Amino acid sequence: MTALLEVEDLRVSYGKIEAVKGISFRVDEGQVVTLIGTNGAGKTTTLRTLSGLLKPTGGRISFDGHPLAGVPAHKIVALGLAHSPEGRHIFPRLTITENLQLGAFLRNDKEGIARDIQRAYDLFPILGERRKQAAGTLSGGEQQMLAMGRALMSRPKLLMLDEPSMGLSPIMMQKIMETIAELRSTGTTILLVEQNAQAALSLADRGHVMEIGKVVLSGTGPDLLHDESVRKAYLGED
Ligand code: ATP
Repeated sequence: MTALLEVEDLRVSYGKIEAVKGISFRVDEGQVVTLIGTNGAGKTTTLRTLSGLLKPTGGRISFDGHPLAGVPAHKIVALGLAHSPEGRHIFPRLTITENLQLGAFLRNDKEGIARDIQRAYDLFPILGERRKQAAGTLSGGEQQMLAMGRALMSRPKLLMLDEPSMGLSPIMMQKIMETIAELRSTGTTILLVEQNAQAALSLADRGHVMEIGKVVLSGTGPDLLHDESVRKAYLGED
């Protein structure tokens, strides 16, 4: 299989503090790959570096055959890498439709954009029902759906999702996880950062466990789900 994303010995620092200490992993086309780990493990830092918001201090990133070091964030989006950030970052005063349109800022195929907005409404019907309302009136889970819908509007080759289940009710979380599975079944490649290890590993092809800036364990989703150390540390088992 060809790697869509290849990360080798990636290092990222905030001043003197090294938050990512030489991690390596790959994401093949069509896969869902998850990074799990506790708070502060460096998962968000990794995604922010991949999308060009932070500069790596070392290592190599290759995306769809392009080296990403030094490439500005908007060019990385143009290459096909979209990021649905932690905390959502939707525009609360703009309508739901306007938020989705912003996700297509690099495109000018009006008809294609309209089709993809409709696709977002099909994926998340609540967004369609409330399309003319300010996005700030949506619940947390609905805002998460909007953030995912917006990231999909750039028609990414790789969709990166940072903690999509954060702060959501179990029902909303279930819905988000089902949507991720649905996106995978239509061929979308996904890099998923999650604190909810059970949910993430249940649908991931591969997973990597991060602890204080390092990948300490890698395997298939099912392998990690059944791994004793993972079960103890992340799935709350004795
Ligand atoms: P979380 O789930 O809490 O976001 P995470 O695994 O995504 O955890 P990061 O947010 O990447 O972890 O943080 C990794 C380390 O980098 C932590 O020690 C954190 O305190 C530190 N860090 C993150 N952002 C900054 C920043 N802007 N300045 C300084 N240190 C930071």
